[in-house]
Amino acid sequence: MGAVGAKLLKKLGLENIQDLLFYLPFRYDDFSSLSKISDLKVGQIVNIRGEVQLIQNKRSFKKRLNITEALINDESDSIKIIWFNQPFIVKNIKTGDIISLAGRVSESQEQLTMSSPQYEKVYSNELIHTQGLIPNYHLTEGLTQKQLRYFIKQTIHLAGVVEEWLPAKTIKTFELLNLKDALKQIHFPKNLIEAEAAKKRLAFSELFLRQLKSQMIKKELSEQKALTIKFQEKATREFVASLPFQLTSDQKKTAWEILKDIEKSRPMSRLIEGDVGSGKTIVAVMAMLNVALNKKRSALMAPTEILAEQHFRSLSNLFKGLDISIELITGSKKNKEIGKSDILIGTHALIQKGANFQNLALAIVDEQHRFGVNQRQKILDFNKKDNFVPHFLSLTATPIPRSLALAIYGDLELSIIKEMPIGRKKIITKLVKESERKKAYNFIRQQIKTGRQAFVICPLIEDSDQLETKSVKAEYEKLSTEIFPDLKIGLLHGKMKSVDKEIVMKNFLEKKIDILVSTSVIEVGVDIQNASVMVIEGAERFGLAQLHQFRGRVGRSEHQSYCLLFPSQEEIGSEKTIDRLKVMEKYSDGFALAKIDLKLRGAGEIYGDTQSGFPELQIASLFDYELIKKSADEAAEIIKEDTSLKEHPLLKIKLGEWEKLIHLE
Ligand code: ADP
Ligand code: MG
Repeated sequence: MGAVGAKLLKKLGLENIQDLLFYLPFRYDDFSSLSKISDLKVGQIVNIRGEVQLIQNKRSFKKRLNITEALINDESDSIKIIWFNQPFIVKNIKTGDIISLAGRVSESQEQLTMSSPQYEKVYSNELIHTQGLIPNYHLTEGLTQKQLRYFIKQTIHLAGVVEEWLPAKTIKTFELLNLKDALKQIHFPKNLIEAEAAKKRLAFSELFLRQLKSQMIKKELSEQKALTIKFQEKATREFVASLPFQLTSDQKKTAWEILKDIEKSRPMSRLIEGDVGSGKTIVAVMAMLNVALNKKRSALMAPTEILAEQHFRSLSNLFKGLDISIELITGSKKNKEIGKSDILIGTHALIQKGANFQNLALAIVDEQHRFGVNQRQKILDFNKKDNFVPHFLSLTATPIPRSLALAIYGDLELSIIKEMPIGRKKIITKLVKESERKKAYNFIRQQIKTGRQAFVICPLIEDSDQLETKSVKAEYEKLSTEIFPDLKIGLLHGKMKSVDKEIVMKNFLEKKIDILVSTSVIEVGVDIQNASVMVIEGAERFGLAQLHQFRGRVGRSEHQSYCLLFPSQEEIGSEKTIDRLKVMEKYSDGFALAKIDLKLRGAGEIYGDTQSGFPELQIASLFDYELIKKSADEAAEIIKEDTSLKEHPLLKIKLGEWEKLIHLE
């Protein structure tokens, strides 16, 4: 593959053959049936095969484009093909060649065409890019689907030497494919049935490893002790009375469960599940208050710096006047300065920096679905010196029902906050056509005139931070010079320095900014009560679960809030895209959305729920309750009899590898 290829693969974390074999596709293009050119209709995604009648490059000076035009003919009819800015194609494909093409049929000057289809010369019957179920992989800049597919095709025969690590009994009981066949079939399935079987095996293994790990943690915890925290009733009541709102009864119940748990010396392991905006933070704050009043310490970990800073600000505010010290630990602080306060707040830098965790009674993880199960292990080790483990509390908005949560978080107790704070209004969501853009801008201006603020999220550009930063800057330019020159516009993206991000968020919070243009860095947790409009550009690029998270950034107070979804221009004609986004208009419940998302993704899509949570789940789906339950039971059984996997050496090695793989980013 050459040095250049190797370098690109390395960017994807693929350093050896094994990595390549386990780099799974996220989707298949179904080009399994060959269409006749005479049968083609606009909008269809098809595979055709024919002879090249003519192929030539043209220049369009107006648009500064190179256009390659070809005429392809099968027995039924002929069709024009166009490629943009790929002049080298004429070197590969000549008149008289038989080629196979795959892509969408479109219309140009009242003629059917295919624009920039995948192409492949037909030498034999083995086509890997344009016929059958074609795997699509996540890429990095400079690497194409074709190249990556080719590399994997070249190595796939080596799947045979990858060692099977699932116990034979397990494979048999659950009628799973062996690893070798699963790998072959996930990359190059003959049909969807093969793809499904491969997916089932790989999903099972992934869930099974996760379950083994949680079972081992549970076992380890049952032998450990935690510091006991005496409930400070008077102070807690006073604190609650000082809040500008009344707790909901779910919040009260959850707080009570936690405060009872941490009174015991048995370490708590509890998950608070509540949809975006349900008010999980304040419950965690009540626990931290009690810990501090007991002269013990707590740590709060958040997935992004922006969120950690927000927690720091709001806790400092809530605990004003109390003798409680709070410290924000970011990536940029020096080690020796950190970790003396009653409450430590930070990103995973908290763990990496090796903060001082002496006397740590409670560890809280916010938006826990952004972290892996492995972070649990790290937290267990926080306080080894004292021979205590901290009580563990995690917060998530991943919307799954109780039975499922119990199965997948085998080692956690569950508190669910169902009830939203009173006075919240349903967020009005609207899909906005390009022709309504001006109207939408007027609407935003009106909202700002009445004192509200708005977010504008720029499209997700996968595989290129650079392009993403560029696009968010361009949007910022456009809004601040052309559309809203009279308003204060702010800019936020992941490439900014921490201090600069902090200043922007602070200014937004203090209403020094009217409209914040941002990338997805504000996806989770951000709490700006005064914001009432969430605009999402290129909305189709995000999953429904992500859109739901974004939408959850508004509607966090009594103000009526709005979410405006703008599809990218080129997607406006796609019914599938529009239908998917319309679902957002109709549903406001995260669980319903996640379920529909899965249905809409359809048979050709194979990614699990990395996006709606669970970083380790590359391929397993949260909605595959059966498989989750089976993997949980099987793992529990194995751990019951063989706690440290002495009798399952292969499994033990695999679990070790897996842990390394999923360690905190
Ligand atoms: P999430 O569950 O998404 O983390 P937060 O804890 O950030 O939600 O709470 C969202 C907002 O609602 C915050 O501004 C918080 O102060 C406010 N809030 C929390 N509980 C209540 C309540 N019972 N009544 C009114 N507002 C509340
Ligand atoms: Mg939150």
